[in-house]
Amino acid sequence: MKTVLLAAAILAALSVSPADARPRPKAKPVADAPVASPTPVYKDGPPDTTYEVPHKPYRIADGLDYVGTRGIGVYMIETHDGLIVLDSGTEKGVDLVEANIQALGFKLSDVHILLETHAHWDHVGGMAKLKRDTGAIFVASAGDRYGLENGVHVGENHYGGGTFPAVSVDRVINDGDKVKLGGVTMTAHLTPGHTRGDTTWTMDVKDHGVKHTVVFYGSTTVAGNVLVGNNAYPNIVADYHLAFTHLKAIKADILLGNHPEFADQEAKYQAQLAGKTDAFVDPKALPNLVKQSEADFGVALAKEQTK
Ligand SMILES: [Zn+2]
Repeated sequence: MKTVLLAAAILAALSVSPADARPRPKAKPVADAPVASPTPVYKDGPPDTTYEVPHKPYRIADGLDYVGTRGIGVYMIETHDGLIVLDSGTEKGVDLVEANIQALGFKLSDVHILLETHAHWDHVGGMAKLKRDTGAIFVASAGDRYGLENGVHVGENHYGGGTFPAVSVDRVINDGDKVKLGGVTMTAHLTPGHTRGDTTWTMDVKDHGVKHTVVFYGSTTVAGNVLVGNNAYPNIVADYHLAFTHLKAIKADILLGNHPEFADQEAKYQAQLAGKTDAFVDPKALPNLVKQSEADFGVALAKEQTK
């Protein structure tokens, strides 16, 4: 009898899990026949001493927290039905991310949905571990799926692109798709080029009673990508242009980076510590970043074209 009751209780608990948290079939097939980078792959990427240095978690707006390291932005969104976490940091740095989530008073099992900005070792190297430790489902773009599930950068890259522990994708999203949990909606905006499935996410938050649009910027840097004659990613230049066009159409009150320096976040955090209540509200940050990044891209492309 006890066993039957327990089984019934488990079934009841399962049936109330939010519909949006479950993988759902997509009508659109995964348009992917990717070729992994034929160039030599470095193991650990270029040395960056900040990626695995701890940073205190901090509040950006109501229900939105920074849980990343000094050099890698990772974000936690609190909902009525649990947590969403965007990116994981590196294979080693994920331990610091998990410690930050717990430092904010949550259990890892409170995380129900994991998202990514793009399939690179420094942002999703710890995703396989984070998925295991939280039991959450992992939602990612069609374009990044191959890279994520094989732990590689897809496309030719002068640096090789780096490898990371593979992680299986439970739900594939495409441009404009929404991920909903406990009253929060995250919208996916594909910004490909940096990786084939690079994704910028938006959501609305309230802070001190004021509504703001938050943009979690994918990445649009060239970062060693071969732009001319990339046989494994022939559309790369067109994709970058698409990303810049897409990003120019987005308005952001709060810009957040997967590298915090994209949005000058450390200075904003320090301003908040000094008492500035709306330290992260900065509507000019996104257009400035897009403009700078597009200019950098143009220089890199011209350099390759004249080779
Ligand atoms: Zn990257």
